[in-house]
Amino acid sequence: MRINAGLQPNTEVNSEVMWGSTKEAGTGRKALFLACVLGLVALIVGALFGKRPTICTLAGQCIARHLGVNVNGDIYHCDRYVTDNDYRLGNVHRQSFAEMFEGDKVEILRERNARRVDGYTDCPYLSICNGGCPHNAYIAERSVSGYDPTCCGEAALIEHIRRRVTGSLEEARSVG
Ligand code: SF4
Ligand code: SF4
Repeated sequence: MRINAGLQPNTEVNSEVMWGSTKEAGTGRKALFLACVLGLVALIVGALFGKRPTICTLAGQCIARHLGVNVNGDIYHCDRYVTDNDYRLGNVHRQSFAEMFEGDKVEILRERNARRVDGYTDCPYLSICNGGCPHNAYIAERSVSGYDPTCCGEAALIEHIRRRVTGSLEEARSVG
């Protein structure tokens, strides 16, 4: 289980403390972004060959497997939802983890996520991404005009990677 610390609303983060100087911050962010992209591509390639992805955004079924904790002890489904009461499971000062995990809220979130994933049944890549990240859909629903609940937007990326991998394999076979 992954537990990440969240921030109180309006908590200011000093990027120079986190990343060093502005120039170093830019280089650090670019390197981190590149590492994340390459890691994601590697996991998608692995999934195309039948390997179960280990990253939560491709593994599916993340509800109550990853938690976010706020500094006041509030527990949320995933750090990405910290401060959204709709995704708050409880508080460590008042409830046990068992109470939070077995509570009605987790069931509600599981059902909500299952309904979302049901919308993707026509996508050929459901077995690759296992429905993707609920939070990406949560943000897209609220911010993308003309949001399409039958597509997460990652299908195009997975298709692109599949084509490139297939093309490279065919090229290698024809040379060999
Ligand atoms: S909501 Fe997204 S980031 Fe959070 S645990 Fe689930 S898949 Fe991972
Ligand atoms: S639409 Fe996106 S999240 Fe849904 S199954 Fe296809 S690739 Fe996965």
